[in-house]
Amino acid sequence: MTDLPPRYPLILNPKAKSEKGKRALKFIMENATRFTIYATRSREEAIELAQRFASEGEPLVIAAGGDGTLNAVVEGLAGSETSLGIFPTGTMNVFARELGIPYDRLENAMEVIDGGHSHEVDLFQMNGAPFVQMAGVGFDAQVIEETTWERKKRLGPFAYLLSATKVLGAKPPMMKVTCADGRTVEGIAVLVGNGTLYGGQFPLFKKADNADQLLDVVVFKESGLQFVRDTLRGLAKGGIDPESPGDSVEYLQAAGLTVSCDETMPIEIDGELWGRSKVAEFLPTGKTLKVFAPAVPKVKLRYTVLKILSPWRR
Ligand SMILES: [Mg+2]
Repeated sequence: MTDLPPRYPLILNPKAKSEKGKRALKFIMENATRFTIYATRSREEAIELAQRFASEGEPLVIAAGGDGTLNAVVEGLAGSETSLGIFPTGTMNVFARELGIPYDRLENAMEVIDGGHSHEVDLFQMNGAPFVQMAGVGFDAQVIEETTWERKKRLGPFAYLLSATKVLGAKPPMMKVTCADGRTVEGIAVLVGNGTLYGGQFPLFKKADNADQLLDVVVFKESGLQFVRDTLRGLAKGGIDPESPGDSVEYLQAAGLTVSCDETMPIEIDGELWGRSKVAEFLPTGKTLKVFAPAVPKVKLRYTVLKILSPWRR
């Protein structure tokens, strides 16, 4: 029995009903002898299981699911010596994309885990809830809040566009951003990044490094049409330019920050709606996360190639 490969604990969200979710389940069952599979009933159960594996000193725990499942497992493993392996089976898979983990075929994601290369990334928290990739206060969280599951099923990504149109029509309340070092900015929407990518493939936070113990923050100061212009400009330029973000956009880096407002603000972390609060406090957890990823993330490689080619691309 001794030369058999080890079995990895695998935490799975069995509710994934999409085609991608079904394909993932098929791959997992075809390779079932490599895992001990734990299908979870709730987010809390996923956190508890991950905590248990970490305290038992498991070297690796695999999370199979979307960004929500991943966020739960990350919370359970935070600060431990246990590494996270990712089977991205969601629609966005932002954290997997950031790390260059293939999100098309689980065979390739498994190769990354077998490759054994582990990264250590910062873990921040919002009002005590850890997040690994990004968070948003105001506009984007409100769009998620307004988008019902039924509408998502019926319209796909257009459901978000429909909600966005509705949210854009209303005048948002002013929020105050106070950085740990005392700098303050006012705005109507705040996006916070640990990594570079936001909401899929957009490298919004150009200066972000998920191991520099800083959060990258984009504050949109004006609502309505100007907000649309600022967002589109950011997308067209492949991210908000930290050196010239635009007159009504501010790009900051901070070790921590507080966003406050007279009204309750919708808040999302790692793309999942967290809830509402008048205060959103972003702090370091003081913990890191070990995660298996390719030695050279594809995203970084793409930047390097683009940079080298840039004189010829004009
Ligand atoms: Mg950082």
